Amino acid sequence: MPNRFTRVVLKVSGEALSGDAGTGVDPDALDQMAQQILQVHDLGVQIGVVVGGGNYFRGRMADSWGIGRAEADNIGMLGTVMNALMLRGSLTGKSDADVRVMTAIPMQSIAEPFIRLRAVRHLKHGAIVIMAAGIGQPYVTTDYPSVQRALELEADALLVAKRGVDGVYDKDPNVHTDARRYRRFGYREAIDKGLEIMDTSAFVLAEEQKLVMHVFDVAGDGLMRRACLGEDVGTTITA
Ligand code: UDP
Repeated sequence: MPNRFTRVVLKVSGEALSGDAGTGVDPDALDQMAQQILQVHDLGVQIGVVVGGGNYFRGRMADSWGIGRAEADNIGMLGTVMNALMLRGSLTGKSDADVRVMTAIPMQSIAEPFIRLRAVRHLKHGAIVIMAAGIGQPYVTTDYPSVQRALELEADALLVAKRGVDGVYDKDPNVHTDARRYRRFGYREAIDKGLEIMDTSAFVLAEEQKLVMHVFDVAGDGLMRRACLGEDVGTTITA
């Protein structure tokens, strides 16, 4: 059976790495994420990973810390770099795969600068490319940059790995036992309903550029691999 996807970009939120603690990095959650990424890589699917950093700090926490928003966003972006290095460490500890970290804020001694064509070349050569520091600018989270990177790297889809949420539901599945998971969902409805899976700005760009998004539970073993093989897991969001 042919792989459904040739190239994907995966959005890993900080939450997906922090396990039940919600902050910092949980070794088991990190290990599981690395395993799932390697499963996709082993399929021969090119994979780029955009990492969040909300498990350390978020720009929207600026006021409660008495820190200006732009500075708070800088701190948030540095958190994404820590997650990227954690992930690189875990991946290289488990396999011989070539793993590259590319940052939107130059940090030459620990990572490469993000250069689109260089990232494409790494992917074509079979490297796992981890992209950190979002777009290197304040006033956004890593949601919008993950859509942007998926588009500029011409990925077939953006995979959105959530922890404890295996897709989009008609009502809160933690509260209602009869909640139904949507197999497919439209960006327009996602925007109108204020779906919290991604920032609205990310949905708007994805809709405009007709990017396909797959939302699935990262805790579900092998789901990332199955999504890449075209199996019906989680929810597919389309224009
Ligand atoms: N951030 C930023 N510019 C970017 C990407 C991220 O300023 O291009 C900051 C922003 O403060 C954000 C934080 O980095 O809150 C961490 O990213 P995010 O909140 O997306 O992490 P996640 O929720 O995915 O763990």
